[in-house]
Formats: sequence, C-alpha cells, structure tokens
Amino acid sequence: MFLTPSGTPRVRVETYREPVTADRVRQDPLDPAPSRHLAQCEFVGESDAAMLRVLLKVIDKGDYDWVECGACEAGWQVAHYAESVL
Ligand SMILES: [Zn+2]
Repeated sequence: MFLTPSGTPRVRVETYREPVTADRVRQDPLDPAPSRHLAQCEFVGESDAAMLRVLLKVIDKGDYDWVECGACEAGWQVAHYAESVL
C-alpha cells in the first residue's frame, strides 16, 4: 500500500510474471525412462507410478534429483530440466 500524490491510498498490484518456461518442463524424477536399476533388480522396467513412488527415493541436489532404487540400491541423476535443444 502506498499513497498517490493526491493522498488516496492504493494497493500496489504486483505484475511480476513467471519467465516463459514452455520449453523447460520440469522432469519427473520418477519417470522410469532414465532409470538405472541393476540388471538383476526385480523392478527393472517398472512403470507403475504408485509403485515407483514407494520404491524410489528422490533427493533434490539443486540442479538435479538423485534417485535411488530401494530394491537394488542403484542410483541415477534426473536433471530438473531437459537439456536445452538450441
Ligand atoms: Zn532397482
């Protein structure tokens, strides 16, 4: 809130807008595509989202998530955003 020159209080309207992120979709760390299970892991190829949510441990490392499989203890990185395709 601030006063205009005439003394009328006005509410400042924030006009900040998110940067355009249409081509920077946050990647899902539970996406089975980049998973790196050990060959003998019984969850290799597991794609059920509810199962993966229980199975995988996701640790936010800043620029990427570190994902660990609770069964085979393998881990892999999932970048928050896909590489730029410029
Ligand atoms: Zn596994």
